Amino acid sequence: QESSAQVPADARARAAELTEELDGHAYRYYVLDAPTVSDAEYDALMRELTALEERFPSLRTPDSPTQKVQGAPSELFESVTHLVRMMSLDNAFDEDEFQAWAVRATREVPVEAWLCELKIDGLAVDLVYLDGHLARAATRGDGRVGEDITPNIRTLESVPTRLRGPKVPELLEVRGEVFFPVAAFTALNESLVAAGQKPYANPRNTAAGSLRQKDPRITAARGLAMYVHGLGAHRGFDAASQSAAYEAFAELGLPVSPRYRVVDGIAGVLGYVREWGERRHDVEHEIDGVVVKVDDFALQGRLGATSKAPRWAIAYKYPPEEVTTRLRSIEVNV
Ligand code: NAD
Repeated sequence: QESSAQVPADARARAAELTEELDGHAYRYYVLDAPTVSDAEYDALMRELTALEERFPSLRTPDSPTQKVQGAPSELFESVTHLVRMMSLDNAFDEDEFQAWAVRATREVPVEAWLCELKIDGLAVDLVYLDGHLARAATRGDGRVGEDITPNIRTLESVPTRLRGPKVPELLEVRGEVFFPVAAFTALNESLVAAGQKPYANPRNTAAGSLRQKDPRITAARGLAMYVHGLGAHRGFDAASQSAAYEAFAELGLPVSPRYRVVDGIAGVLGYVREWGERRHDVEHEIDGVVVKVDDFALQGRLGATSKAPRWAIAYKYPPEEVTTRLRSIEVNV
């Protein structure tokens, strides 16, 4: 491996520049809910930095944007420490990248069943239920510490404040995605335009801005929704796989997407990816890809995680779509 003295000055300077740019974009996206570049542009900068660090590993420091969950809790809300860390996801941008990742994973553990689900373009939220009561809700923040948004989450119709059924766990931490249903978002923009006001630019950032409000009545009026897609800390809850956990979540009254599917092998995953690539607009929320997870929890545990993302899951990102909406040509809110 090269020593840090052997890294050419221009590579070092470019890495510093990319880090600063990525940190700035993450701040505008996660804290201000007002990004100034598209997700595809952000992903391209991240890929450039990843490639530089692969060439010159001494540039890869623990605080690099490639090594940590991007985002930070803002000071507007109380901080909450998650019971189990919330992570990001590694990406694959085409079928070859996905295959390379899946082949590596199956070489380490014998994966047969893969759980495929839609990657919801929303914001990650953590819910903690104690004896079936919603005790706390928080944003992801930096993955360890998030923002307390309990009063806001309580206004979402899809999130139960009490779990139902005969076997309510003593402790259940779940995470999922809060999103702006496309129909509600369109209706909001139409009413703004009719009132002579500026419409919002996109559902994801408007969802984040609507949820992170000091006044929960504003959140309530927006019609946000949520699907859960992950398990955190738990006591008195038993599931051997991701799909079994989803079935148990649904029985407890938690909102689970109806579109997840457990498939066999890499061919099964690619079938799901192709199908939803063509049906992106048949869904009530925006999607930016598919998330593929090893279904079996024991195998997930054996694969473990990096400092940033689990090794048992990957986000297959669809190519960005041409943005040709009418809204782009007029001034928009962000
Ligand atoms: P990510 O969005 O690529 O993946 C991780 C997130 O996916 C998780 O936190 C989870 O909440 C979410 N997710 C959605 N559906 C899911 C499902 N079914 N199962 C599991 N997780 C699911 O990674 P990230 O670290 O959250 O954010 C990075 C991404 O955010 C970038 O790739 C970019 O798209 C966007 N971003 C954009 C800007 C910008 O300026 N435009 C800045 C920062 C981040």
